Amino acid sequence: CGIVGYIGDLDSKEILLKGLEKLEYRGYDSAGIAVQNEEGITVFKEKGRIADLRDAVDPAIIGSTGIGHTRWATHGVPNQQNAHPHQSASGRFTLVHNGVIENYHRLQKEYLSDVQMKSDTDTEVIVQLVEKFANDGLTTAEAFRKTLKLLHGSYALALLDAQEEGTIFVAKNKSPLLAGLGPDFNVVASDAMAMLQVTDQFVELHDQEMVIVTKDSVEIQTLDGEVINRAPYTAELDM
Ligand code: GLU
Repeated sequence: CGIVGYIGDLDSKEILLKGLEKLEYRGYDSAGIAVQNEEGITVFKEKGRIADLRDAVDPAIIGSTGIGHTRWATHGVPNQQNAHPHQSASGRFTLVHNGVIENYHRLQKEYLSDVQMKSDTDTEVIVQLVEKFANDGLTTAEAFRKTLKLLHGSYALALLDAQEEGTIFVAKNKSPLLAGLGPDFNVVASDAMAMLQVTDQFVELHDQEMVIVTKDSVEIQTLDGEVINRAPYTAELDM
């Protein structure tokens, strides 16, 4: 399983698909990407191999912001509906997740009893919580941080907001995830190997942080919104 994300000037699709291919060694049963442009967010997801996802992607959809996922199913059978990305009830938020949310059932009962769930995954609770808190009046960053504080378990997350084109919201806890820096783009990935195709400059992300990635910046925050500065390192890996 693995996660990738790209935000820059180029079309994200090929960079995401190549990145997911580099993560194939981690094992997976389904894969998907979400691509964002000024018209909105489009999700492509399939059970099976990255090659099957590639066939399902519409080349006419161009988007310079995107996230991708390979799934190793833990909650819900491997099928297209349970494949990531997952979207909130209104479609505003789109999320990919690696890991396991141990208290998802309790969170669903406590906060989301009126929400019609679209999948059998633990992951969907996260994206529905973000939308619920945004509907309550929080900004996306606030809604995401509030959600993260409620989660018990492991996660690497990348979130898109249809109302905020050009931003990927990222977080991790006990699952690997790092950011990669480019001159006019930034990326995220579970493993540097997935993004050595575009950069060798990476920034470590730590558990219990929220990261706001745009084309020009990677801003790391505590879950209370305090900004953290961290220097990048150069990855020295054989491709
Ligand atoms: N628990 C999530 C699911 O079953 C994510 C699995 C993964 O790490 O790929 O969909």
